[in-house]
Amino acid sequence: MIKNKIKVVIWGFGAMGSGMAKMILRKEGFDIVGICDLYDGYIGKSIFNILKISNPQKHDVIISDNIENVLKNTRPDIVLLATDSFTKSAYPKIKTLVEHKVNVISTAEEMAYPQANQPELAKEMDQLAKANKVSILGTGVNPGMMMDLLAVCISGVMEDVKDMQISRINSLSPFGKTVVEEQGVGLTVDEFNRRMKTGDMAGHVGFKESTFMIANALGLEVQDFNQSMQPIITDIDRKSPYGFAKKGDVCGVEMSAKAKLSNSTIINMYHPQQIEPEMVGTSTGDYIKIQGKPEINLSNVPEVEGGIGTIAICVNMIPHVINSKPGLKTMIDLPVPRAIMGDVRKMIDEE
Ligand code: NAD
Repeated sequence: MIKNKIKVVIWGFGAMGSGMAKMILRKEGFDIVGICDLYDGYIGKSIFNILKISNPQKHDVIISDNIENVLKNTRPDIVLLATDSFTKSAYPKIKTLVEHKVNVISTAEEMAYPQANQPELAKEMDQLAKANKVSILGTGVNPGMMMDLLAVCISGVMEDVKDMQISRINSLSPFGKTVVEEQGVGLTVDEFNRRMKTGDMAGHVGFKESTFMIANALGLEVQDFNQSMQPIITDIDRKSPYGFAKKGDVCGVEMSAKAKLSNSTIINMYHPQQIEPEMVGTSTGDYIKIQGKPEINLSNVPEVEGGIGTIAICVNMIPHVINSKPGLKTMIDLPVPRAIMGDVRKMIDEE
């Protein structure tokens, strides 16, 4: 087992980043050496005061708004980047990290398969990572696992794969401000529709990434892809930790997508997300149905909670990203994700 602890920096200390810190602090073999966030209320403060937990490490961690200083002063093995949803906005940050020769795990949804929406940037990131001998991975609960990698893994017991129906009915309540805003929570229906028309309504980011990941894993190509969204309107007031929707306003987004693959296989995706679904009797769940030989009918009820799921998969992929050959990686390139229950250093290759 390697001697030194795995030095981690977290960039973005919101709902996901702070959750990752809490998880890491409960695990053996990690050392959180730095945190970067721009929020005024955090800068200069100890993470242990903010998290309201006692410090299990030998040193304090003070939040900085200057990533260059954090990297220079701490020389981390890996940075968990939890600030963005889109490759374009995550890219300059990833470039900075890679040029400092640091491995990166990003929660940006588009980074789960950047080849789908940003093939040129994906190529650049791959070359940059190889030149600096580090690895980059985008992951999360979805995209990253529930609507893509899980379907890919289960196809491993199939002789033949035909059409897929993948659904995730989930709660937006665990996510932070960024996600809640992107899903239009709290908007009036008119404002939602206006933003949808002007292309300013993000909705779920990731269907394209998930379908491209699945197609690529199966040795196929996406020939045709389209998606649609509509607001979920609440008929009661709903409040979550980071969002509020008044009766008659938008409490989430219902999204669907259809992808046709090169062998005519159809992937249908359905993903309604809203804050506090339980308040109106909506049960959450993850469902994967695949026609073929044998037929697959996976169902997980209630859903894998989005916050814990994202936090856990980012942390659990750390050893695989550190061990990986340099380059831009996706979840279909790295070893099977697993929970880290022992000392993480046992999972790190000695060379
Ligand atoms: P959040 O809004 O709670 O946190 C984001 C944090 O990043 C904030 O504290 C903000 O101050 C900080 N930040 C933003 N820009 C920064 C910068 N340039 N430098 C330093 N700090 C900066 O959001 P969250 O819920 O933690 O999610 C983070 C991102 O991860 C979102 O874009 C979200 O869409 C994505 N996400 C993806 C998945 C997935 O399954 N793939 C799941 C959850 C979240």
